[in-house]
Amino acid sequence: MSDNFDVVVIGAGPAGYAAAIRSAQLGLNTACIDKSLGKDGKPAFGGTCLNWGCIPSKALLDASHKYLDAKEHFAEIGITVKSVGIDVPKMIERKDKVVSGMIKGIAGLFKGNGVTGLTGVGRLLANRQVEFTPHEGDRTIVQAEHVILAPGSVPAEIPPTPIDGDRIVDSTGALDFTEVPKRVGVIGAGVIGLELGSVWGRLGSEVVVLEALEEFLPMVDERIARDSLKIFKDQGLDIRLGALVTGTEVNKKGVTVSYTDSEGEQTIVVDKLIVAVGRKPYTEGLFAPDSGIDLDDQGFVIVDDLCATNAANIYAVGDAVRGPMLAHKGTEEGVMVAERIAGFKPMVNYATVPSVVYTHPEIAWVGKTEQEVKASGESYTVGQFPFAASGRAQAANDTQGLVKVIADTQTDRIVGVHVLGPQASEIVAQAVIAMEFDASAEDLGLTMFAHPTLSEAFHEAALSVAGHAIHMVNRKKRS
Ligand code: FAD
Ligand code: AMP
Repeated sequence: MSDNFDVVVIGAGPAGYAAAIRSAQLGLNTACIDKSLGKDGKPAFGGTCLNWGCIPSKALLDASHKYLDAKEHFAEIGITVKSVGIDVPKMIERKDKVVSGMIKGIAGLFKGNGVTGLTGVGRLLANRQVEFTPHEGDRTIVQAEHVILAPGSVPAEIPPTPIDGDRIVDSTGALDFTEVPKRVGVIGAGVIGLELGSVWGRLGSEVVVLEALEEFLPMVDERIARDSLKIFKDQGLDIRLGALVTGTEVNKKGVTVSYTDSEGEQTIVVDKLIVAVGRKPYTEGLFAPDSGIDLDDQGFVIVDDLCATNAANIYAVGDAVRGPMLAHKGTEEGVMVAERIAGFKPMVNYATVPSVVYTHPEIAWVGKTEQEVKASGESYTVGQFPFAASGRAQAANDTQGLVKVIADTQTDRIVGVHVLGPQASEIVAQAVIAMEFDASAEDLGLTMFAHPTLSEAFHEAALSVAGHAIHMVNRKKRS
């Protein structure tokens, strides 16, 4: 192995591997160091996203959704099944197979693009030197022209709920239950808590979600948050807001969880407790004392808009820096930094980072919520279209939710799009493109959408900004 590189990336999650691949594509001699070991104990590129995050959670969300569909909704469309069963070990095994395939895929991409993939621990020293301690073999020092830090994040913990990996688990443990627990507690009604609660709820667990805040999904548009809370409760998720977890006691029968709410002290007893109270940046052991990188008081690496740290030629991207902890946000940052190192001038448009909650129906949004626009004092107009009025949603027996388009009243520019409904994650991609190109609601209204598609709901919501929706009666009638 050479010990001189143009670029050394520490961390091979979606931020780091994208940075490494793009650097190599641009002709830079690039190494990417990652220390993760997969479930099989072998080195595993891909970071949280591939190993314990986006991909395994979606594998279980998709499997559990199909199970519930077969069990509860097939009969509605004239399909009778004698019995529907669950084979949890098989479900987990398939999830693991998807994950290991994707991990191999990253190794293949490194090879195909000429990235030197190094499995072991990376540590930033002074003067852009990086110490590499392989899982096997001797420690070496490599010299880098540029270093990209992409160490990611780990689950946050709170004192009342120490993770024991058995009764009390974090999001990683919740992806590997070997049977369906009778009673599951989830702490935190954030994105991860709702997704994992949905998985086990669909498979048959009684799920109680305890959330300290009084407000459900405060970052989501209020209308969408309100409607989705009702839907999730109807699905059987027992979501208790204003419930601050204060303690746990583990015994043979399960976990007794204590919490306080407006009525006082409460307890529940569950078989498994999933702690999903957020994530924190992971920089343990990453820096030698003289590496000179500044962190903020929450442990995030301090960077500017272009992901540059306070040290020359050292960048940081992904979950370990400010902004939403989302795989695609990190990927865009990684690519941007690689291109800047190569002399190009791209920027990440943080105003159009899409967010998704992969429940069913899904929640997806981009841009500002109505409450944010209102608070800013801008004048705005809202267009909405319910999936109940969509022919495709009716045909698919999947009609809950709506699309909401918020446009600036003066310019008609779209400032936010919020979707609760089937395939909201795919629909919001169209909204991102529209906003990237500075589209107006009228531009979208003049765009032709294939019929019958769920995306037509987005078209109709854009048309309804001006009171021109065709497939519903417009509240505001304008010529
Ligand atoms: P990570 O993916 O965390 O990767 C960092 C890598 O760096 C790790 O492999 C780590 O071991 C390695 N590393 C750290 N320090 C060192 C060191 N010193 N030496 C060597 N290696 C090191 N996001 C979405 O956008 N969509 C989703 O649907 C989604 N679902 C999620 C579901 C769950 C259950 C969880 C937990 C997360 C989910 N996320 C999702 C978040 C997403 O996984 C993260 O935002 C993303 O993985 C962050 O990418 P990253 O590259 O910054 O860091
Ligand atoms: P997120 O940061 O989106 O993953 O969501 C984590 C959620 O956990 C937040 O909504 C927090 O309010 C919630 N949370 C954190 N600590 C507690 C606690 N002790 N009891 C209940 N909810 C909590």
